[in-house]
Amino acid sequence: MNDLSLTTLDGGMAMLSAPVLDAFAASLRGDVLNAGDPGYDEARAIWNAMIDRRPGLIVRCAGAGDVIAAINFARENNLLVAVRGGGHNIAGNAVCDGGLMIDLSRMKSVRVDRVARRAWVEPGAILADVDKETQAFGLVVPTGINSTTGIAGLTLGGGFGWTARKLGLTIDNLLSADVVTADGELLRASTAEHPDLFWAIRGGGGNFGVVTAFEFKLHKLGPQVLSGLVVHPFDDAKAVLEGYRAALEDAPDELTCWTVARRAPPLPFLPADWHGKEVLVLAMCWCGEMAAGEQATARLRGIGKPIVDVVGPNPFVGWQAAFDALLAPGARNYWKSHDFIELADETIDALDQAIRNLPGPECEVFIGHVGGVAGQVATEATAFPQRSSHYVMNVHGRWREAAMDDACIAWARGIYEATKPQAIGTAYINFMPSDEADRVEAAYGVNYARLIEVKQKYDPKNFFRLNQNLKARHARKAA
Ligand code: FAD
Repeated sequence: MNDLSLTTLDGGMAMLSAPVLDAFAASLRGDVLNAGDPGYDEARAIWNAMIDRRPGLIVRCAGAGDVIAAINFARENNLLVAVRGGGHNIAGNAVCDGGLMIDLSRMKSVRVDRVARRAWVEPGAILADVDKETQAFGLVVPTGINSTTGIAGLTLGGGFGWTARKLGLTIDNLLSADVVTADGELLRASTAEHPDLFWAIRGGGGNFGVVTAFEFKLHKLGPQVLSGLVVHPFDDAKAVLEGYRAALEDAPDELTCWTVARRAPPLPFLPADWHGKEVLVLAMCWCGEMAAGEQATARLRGIGKPIVDVVGPNPFVGWQAAFDALLAPGARNYWKSHDFIELADETIDALDQAIRNLPGPECEVFIGHVGGVAGQVATEATAFPQRSSHYVMNVHGRWREAAMDDACIAWARGIYEATKPQAIGTAYINFMPSDEADRVEAAYGVNYARLIEVKQKYDPKNFFRLNQNLKARHARKAA
């Protein structure tokens, strides 16, 4: 390797000599890449193509030993560090310019104990890895709705999808985690060991250290679940959303129904004359007995006059990947989100306007349906605070051409502003783009002060700063 100039924590540069870099590389089980190496561009590419950063050094870790070595090397040389799990986060903090990127994407092992109903998962696994290994035994970890999402970032922010109302958030099923802190120590965090750290990593993101293993509780589910889409013309959206709201008022925890408003993609089950036209999709999943599901979904499926209803038994692993094609990596993306307790008439009106003014064929508004078991956990029990919300709206600005940046970002911000009066003020940190650093305190609500205390204890120098950052006290004064 040649001498390298790398970005430091304070934004300066550090010159590292070839022998120092070679010795570090030789100490690893994985490998290191720098600009020009084969694989460098693939390793720095993440889901959101708006983020185009060039780390000075990428460490592709093979295990916890490599993570410890990378953290020690970065700390000793005062280097800026980014941590990549699945690389899906909208804000793009998985990758940095000039500093050291700890790339965990090769650490993908998932081990299942079917008797104890436990899974041990490495942080480079994506949801598809977790689902395939656990569903081999008819078991599940509750996670998100897109199978290419990384388990690490999703878990550290909270994690919800089709199963959260029945089985809780991903963090509600986390039993322990191995965390390498800024001083290079590997700590086991659980209710019994370092409980303050365990509390903080359940929602506090990557602020406290690098997780090298997650231990999850497993539940029985599937392998088939009653699930699928009901697609409506967007002209009927108001009435359909009113029906949706009424149907979900006292929905059982087994039933989850999200909505997606967008132009219809050319899905094989949609009549061709609907392709490219605005539609409202009800996407539902029943996590219970199949026969009971037919009855429980009947009210939702009976709303209005849908174009098509393709709800039926599907393999859970397949249903988890149902939106993958629409959310594939490589597009430019910008998100804005709100938490709601109710879907107010004003919110429905704002959505109606927004979809009639879509700036592009891939822009869409998702409304996630939460609550149920996930909503029964006390707000202060985990760092993730928004247990009372019933709906999470995520506006997905998504497009291909840089020339569309301004129009798509303005569209997403417009819906955010129009629906703000009905929102409860918290936010899901996993949905926050890079320009929402000033929203972190509100996002955590009543849990913010305690998070700052834990940050002060485990990362007082803010070594882990490329995340939705909690600044420990002295770092905040210096900023
Ligand atoms: P990365 O970008 O790799 O990581 C995100 C951040 O987490 C990093 O910047 C770092 O700060 C931290 N981090 C990552 N790994 C570690 C680690 N091992 N130790 C410490 N810190 C770490 N969320 C849901 O809850 N439900 C959904 O249904 C859902 N759907 C999504 C669909 C799509 C298409 C996308 C893009 C995202 C979705 N999300 C969803 C949001 C998702 O939870 C976040 O984007 C999450 O951060 C992704 O994790 P990752 O490991 O892939 O991301």
